Amino acid sequence: MSELVAPGASEVPVGRRGERISFVLPFYNEGVNVDNVHTVLNEVTAGLPYALEFVFVNDGSADDTLLRLKKAADADPRVVVINFSRNFGHQRAITAGMDHASGDAVVIMDSDLQDPPRVALELIAAWEQGADVAYAQRRTRKDAFVKKVTADAYYRLLESIGDIKIPRNTGDFRLMDRKVVDEVKKFREHDRYMRGIVSSVGYHQVAVPFDRDERVHGETHYTWRRMFKLAADGILGFSTFPLTIISRIGAVMGLGALVAILWVLAGRLLNPESVVQGWTFTIITLLFVGGLQIVMLGILGSYIGRIYREVQNRPLYSVEDLYRGSDAPHPGGPPGAPGASGRL
Ligand code: UDP
Ligand code: MG
Repeated sequence: MSELVAPGASEVPVGRRGERISFVLPFYNEGVNVDNVHTVLNEVTAGLPYALEFVFVNDGSADDTLLRLKKAADADPRVVVINFSRNFGHQRAITAGMDHASGDAVVIMDSDLQDPPRVALELIAAWEQGADVAYAQRRTRKDAFVKKVTADAYYRLLESIGDIKIPRNTGDFRLMDRKVVDEVKKFREHDRYMRGIVSSVGYHQVAVPFDRDERVHGETHYTWRRMFKLAADGILGFSTFPLTIISRIGAVMGLGALVAILWVLAGRLLNPESVVQGWTFTIITLLFVGGLQIVMLGILGSYIGRIYREVQNRPLYSVEDLYRGSDAPHPGGPPGAPGASGRL
């Protein structure tokens, strides 16, 4: 495991020789998956003629994830563990991993083996052939029916109203060349939608189709609430269409109001004796307009909330410690031996 550069370098394109690849994996309560994903990653990448780095981010897990990650670091000098001071969320965990990764290419993947490590090899092959970003695009996914349908509808919506083209059916599983990583790192927005940011920077981006596996152990951390938040970040972060639609609806309703006023006035003038009628109509209009206004205020509020968070400009995450197995006082000692953690 200690062999950093495997033989076979002759097959590597000249420009890529001697380069390093970082794998960034976020872990949130993934204790059951740590050993598994580390082993599979190690096996799959064994033949790669590159120096490797595994950046494992512990996103405030409450289970034994950190302990297991540190054990992995003790056993494998290529592992560096970034330990967050609390849970900051998937998108920020990836951000921290990218901030700390030193590779000439960086692969982002989930830690639950839903993004199959063997596909990472295909991403690397695309990079060798000149891609700056190789994103894994789901051909199939083994998720619940409702998730599939809503995800599909969402990507269609985003495609039609977004300011930039975000490829459909892609998650955060992708490889980025160093120059892309450096560019993406400049985006410090707080409500983050990483796949949108990566799409927006440009460069030569290619899709690598794959079949997304089922989660083997544990369960998803993307509750409906979190998924809705991520979906909203995608739309609010990359589209001002919701604001446009407010003024469009406003214009249509203004016209409607004008017609209604003329109609009511005409009725009053032409038939002054008519008894009070149209109570149902009045109430419906009142409720409808009131409801619509609240929705519109909500949309405005969503953008204002984002502006507020940007103005506050708080740090995206706090790192409690950075851990490398080599930091341990007795290298080669029993796995899990307490190591001196590099405080930031
Ligand atoms: N994750 C994280 N922080 C969180 C939630 C999730 O780092 O607050 C990680 C999680 O450990 C996994 C990845 O993000 O590696 C994707 O999460 P999950 O598998 O729960 O999402 P799904 O695949 O169901 O969309
Ligand atoms: Mg998953």
